Amino acid sequence: MTTSKGTLLVWTGPSGVGKGTVLQWVMERVPHLYFSISATTRAPRPGEVDGQHYHFLTREQFDRYVEQDAFLEHASYVDNSYGTLEGPVQQALDEGRDVVLEIEVQGAQMVKRRRPDAVLVFVAPPSFAELERRLRGRGTESDEKIGRRLETARQELRQAAGFDYIVINDRVEQAGEELMAILLAERCRSEKRKMMLEVEENAQS
Ligand code: ADP
Ligand code: 5GP
Repeated sequence: MTTSKGTLLVWTGPSGVGKGTVLQWVMERVPHLYFSISATTRAPRPGEVDGQHYHFLTREQFDRYVEQDAFLEHASYVDNSYGTLEGPVQQALDEGRDVVLEIEVQGAQMVKRRRPDAVLVFVAPPSFAELERRLRGRGTESDEKIGRRLETARQELRQAAGFDYIVINDRVEQAGEELMAILLAERCRSEKRKMMLEVEENAQS
């Protein structure tokens, strides 16, 4: 198993649970964290910027990346495709940065198969009713699309126990602190510390 210098952390969970909100809170406090910008065939929402929130691609462009095996993972989700481009993620890890992928559950499982050293964190809502309230309150999808996202959420929540960590997003600050604690704990793993000690030993000899 290859162990990178940085941690590859997968931040997953149902749509509307608050993954983006909590991650934003953490990004403001952890300066060297690398947020992987996903590719998607979904149309931008008002205020979303290409290359900042997502790489917004045509179906043809997305399929070409699939053919080229450029994705670390990709998945279909409610009529659209989403994927993580491997190149920039690997580069950031090689630089020793911690990388966060904010992705849905099928993609998270694909990352674990391809990269067993990845750390998978499932973000759960305090209740299903609260998840529905948040998703409707965000106001970014039609009623029909919200219904399909909630249906998918029910299946995703059943899989929560299979992840390395579960963070319940009741209050944003508490969930954010838990994510920061996981990143810190992963930095202290002996495999990573051993690599650092070896680097220092080599520098001295
Ligand atoms: P996701 O990225 O998982 O799809 P978002 O971050 O877009 O979810 O959050 C969905 C909605 O829920 C947003 O309107 C956000 O402001 C709200 N929200 C997120 N976390 C909380 C929380 N802890 N308490 C109340 N509302 C929240
Ligand atoms: P949204 O349309 O709300 O931006 O995203 C829908 C779902 O796709 C969310 O659960 C989001 O986390 C997930 N997602 C975003 N980027 C990726 C990606 O690169 N790969 C996968 N598998 N899912 C993604």
